[in-house]
Amino acid sequence: MASPSTTVPRPTIHGGAPAFSERFRFIKPTLPDFQSVISAYQGFYAAGMITNGSLVQRLESAAAERLGVNDCVAVSSCTSGLMLLLRALRVTGEVILPSFTFFATGHAVNWNGLTPVFADCDPDTWTIDPDDVETRITERTTAIIAVHMYGNPCAVEALQAIATRHKLKLIFDSAHAFGSRRGGRPIGQFGDAEAFSLSPTKLLVAGEGGLVSTNDATLANSLRAGRNYGDPGSYDPDLIGLNARMPEFNAALALAGLAILDAKLARHNAIATRYTELLSSVRGLRFQKVAPADLCSYKDYSVCVDPGAAGITRDELASALLAENIETKKYFYPPMHLQKLYRGYHAGRPALPVTDSVSGSVLSLPIYESLSDETVEGVARAIQRLILYQAASDNHSPTHS
Ligand SMILES: *Cc1c(COP(=O)(O)O)cnc(C)c1O
Repeated sequence: MASPSTTVPRPTIHGGAPAFSERFRFIKPTLPDFQSVISAYQGFYAAGMITNGSLVQRLESAAAERLGVNDCVAVSSCTSGLMLLLRALRVTGEVILPSFTFFATGHAVNWNGLTPVFADCDPDTWTIDPDDVETRITERTTAIIAVHMYGNPCAVEALQAIATRHKLKLIFDSAHAFGSRRGGRPIGQFGDAEAFSLSPTKLLVAGEGGLVSTNDATLANSLRAGRNYGDPGSYDPDLIGLNARMPEFNAALALAGLAILDAKLARHNAIATRYTELLSSVRGLRFQKVAPADLCSYKDYSVCVDPGAAGITRDELASALLAENIETKKYFYPPMHLQKLYRGYHAGRPALPVTDSVSGSVLSLPIYESLSDETVEGVARAIQRLILYQAASDNHSPTHS
């Protein structure tokens, strides 16, 4: 096949050399210095105190201070934190949540025997659309779970106004958002409670773990009982709990992780800025909008591909990038309302056109602290040349072979 343009280098799928000679990792967590983790942990290990000890308490205090809340409750994961929150808040009936999220958000609803009702997302921020939430409220609705998508803060004020007006509980799945800020305020301070994930793909890492932040002392006490089988200390549980405790080692890891969090946030933001600079002139790409006053953790950096303008679909771009040795992810596709466990809940309800469009076109690019500037630029240039090459071939006679 003749090259449609002498100025655009051939992408690998058209016979060119790959942008990278070897595949590199899509995600690689930067972990705190091992010695600092071990020196915090070894005394407890030597004393045989590997669970229910004071490292978890120390992590809870340090996180509460960082987030500016009265209480942080450490749990085994964000998923168990959300499960316990719904239980402790005595949520019943229907819970409104975005369809454009990781399915753990919905699983927490389902595990509690509640009915998930999916709301659409905003076309710019890709977080849950408060106006659409309000249209889906019924007399059975008792709670909203909103997700700070990729760390981009939700429209928390509008959501709180709706929750207050309709007397609903408001929970945030803040899995992506430790370190994010809404205006000057840390994510963690909003709603009845927020649940963070400390699993290795997130910025603050405990190995596995979660943190629930709240200013409600009664709720914090229920959660502390809830993570311990529901035992409030009387051996006569008030709620059906779990074993959702965080081990001491995980707390040591997360405590050391807090010390390097600001550096990670800065690096994620620098990479995101660079991607946007390099890609904003490429036709057919759309970017997530972060309000100027907000800080996004950029747990992920994602673009939406408009096939009409880009001349290539999201899936074609993803395969073409893989040929360049660049791994990408479709976070989050399919959306929850199209997944087999959940589509029944959505049947007969109003459509989710923005979710369908964003989820159907979104592509997450590699972003982590140790990714070099050269690699970031190489990824952006590979996307640029694929779309430019496509434009050049579209402008040439489609009959050439
Ligand atoms: C990762 C993630 C979770 C699950 O977190 P775990 O700590 O692994 O349970 C929940 N919600 C969202 C949006 C996530 O991305």
